[in-house]
Amino acid sequence: MKNKSLRFRVNLWYTLLIGMLCILLIVFINFAGTYSQRSKSQQRLISSVEGNVDEIEVENGILDIESDFAFLNGNTSVIVFSDNGEILGGEYPDGMETDAPLSNNNLETVTWKGEKYYLFDRLIEFHKYEFKVNGITGEVISSESEDVGSFTPFDGTLEDTAPECTITYRDAYDAALKYGGFNEEDTTIISASPSKYNNIPLYEIEFHCVTKAHSDIWVRGVVHTNSENDIWNNITIIALLLTPLIMLLGAFVGGKIANAAMKPIKELNDTVSRIESGNDLSQSIEPGDSDPQIEKLADNFNRMFARLRRSFESEKQFTGDASHELRTPLSVILAECDYQLDEDTPAEEAKEGFTTIKSQALSMQKLVMQLLSFTRMEQNAHEIELTECNFSEILADLCDTMESSAKEKEITIHRDIDSDITMNMDISLIIRLCENLISNAIRYGKESGNLTVSLKETDSKVFFKVTDDGVGIAEDQLEKIWNRFYRVDKARSRDEGCCGLGLPMVRQIAQIHGGTAYAESKLGSGSTFTAEFPKK
Ligand code: ADP
Repeated sequence: MKNKSLRFRVNLWYTLLIGMLCILLIVFINFAGTYSQRSKSQQRLISSVEGNVDEIEVENGILDIESDFAFLNGNTSVIVFSDNGEILGGEYPDGMETDAPLSNNNLETVTWKGEKYYLFDRLIEFHKYEFKVNGITGEVISSESEDVGSFTPFDGTLEDTAPECTITYRDAYDAALKYGGFNEEDTTIISASPSKYNNIPLYEIEFHCVTKAHSDIWVRGVVHTNSENDIWNNITIIALLLTPLIMLLGAFVGGKIANAAMKPIKELNDTVSRIESGNDLSQSIEPGDSDPQIEKLADNFNRMFARLRRSFESEKQFTGDASHELRTPLSVILAECDYQLDEDTPAEEAKEGFTTIKSQALSMQKLVMQLLSFTRMEQNAHEIELTECNFSEILADLCDTMESSAKEKEITIHRDIDSDITMNMDISLIIRLCENLISNAIRYGKESGNLTVSLKETDSKVFFKVTDDGVGIAEDQLEKIWNRFYRVDKARSRDEGCCGLGLPMVRQIAQIHGGTAYAESKLGSGSTFTAEFPKK
């Protein structure tokens, strides 16, 4: 996985995510299907049973299961039981048997041969009576009884006589009570209304009576739990079949999205490769209208290229300058050797010639040594170990040493060194820094002039200054003198064996110590060179 491209990985995760979502969806469909199917099966079962309850009645004392009674309603089987559990009609589905007891309005699940079935039972109690009574003769024409359900008691009067009748409602009711042998106290009238049968005016009287017209009857509905499952099963199968297709589509779309998302990075990569292979660090990356993060990355790359370019250019300059500096003394040496080897050269000039060769060789040696130490210092800057030293003492000793060369130009060294200034330093590098600045002040100072060496400290910094009253430096040269091999007066410096590496080395040493070096000067009046260091 590690060596797979980012685009591939993004795409893979995206596809897996879509796969997971599909699986979640299938689980959800299954769950929702099962739940909905369950409640639907149960509702149908209950309504099948309830619908059939109305089709059972007792007519003139005889139990009658009407022809509209549906023993099979869709997937639901309906069975009628007597109150002692004997089957009066209907049968269980799939030859099923169960000893689940009859229990009114109870829905339960039973298992038969590994399959699950819902059962719903309903008790029918024949408390409700409907009598038809002849409105003229008071004769009972028919009596029916059925399950009572819920009812509202009659709130009208029984003392009226219906049109075309000769007896009152009361008379009709009394006739019904007498016919059934009921006590009035045991009954509650539900309704009383006039009617007609074969042009004979009738009274229809409905009432509830505590005495039942028949022993109780049970109606039981049975349905397979999976009877509605087919649609949901099909949906699940379709969803399962579609999952790989959706995942393929996801992978395709994911690939496109990943491509689009990775495009700026790819472009960035292409540009970096082009710059790298073309070796042209002056080119820069144009991030265009891409993401701010990509713009930032491109910006960082551009900065890195610029830095590399500066570093390469400075290296090139350094190498060019170094070879140039070496070429001049080498040419002089070679020319002088040729002259000396010429037979016509007078013997008395030999000494002078070898003196020239020696002086050129010495300045070459000096240059090579300086180059070497400069390069070493640059390369090992990070390895330098600092130790706590007494700067004041080191500087005083150095001034003593430099006195003799100052005396050659009758220059007086004034010391303005505060005592016991200590600093964390690389002692040999600091001595070199101080020596370079003092020797420059002597070299470029005026004959019989003055030179001041000062060392001061503040709470946070240490300042080392060398001030001379010599030739000074023009303003436009003040920064250039810190460049490698730069000399204001090339001819003079070369004569004195100077190669222009002293000040760059001073600045480098100051920087290694976390400080800096700079110069102030006035042409013709003198210069002050300062190196400042942080105390910590
Ligand atoms: P060099 O070896 O030529 O002295 P440096 O790097 O030490 O090289 O100095 C660079 C140039 O800066 C010198 O050639 C000189 O022209 C100028 N310079 C340095 N120190 C002084 C000074 N104290 N007064 C005037 N010019 C100076």
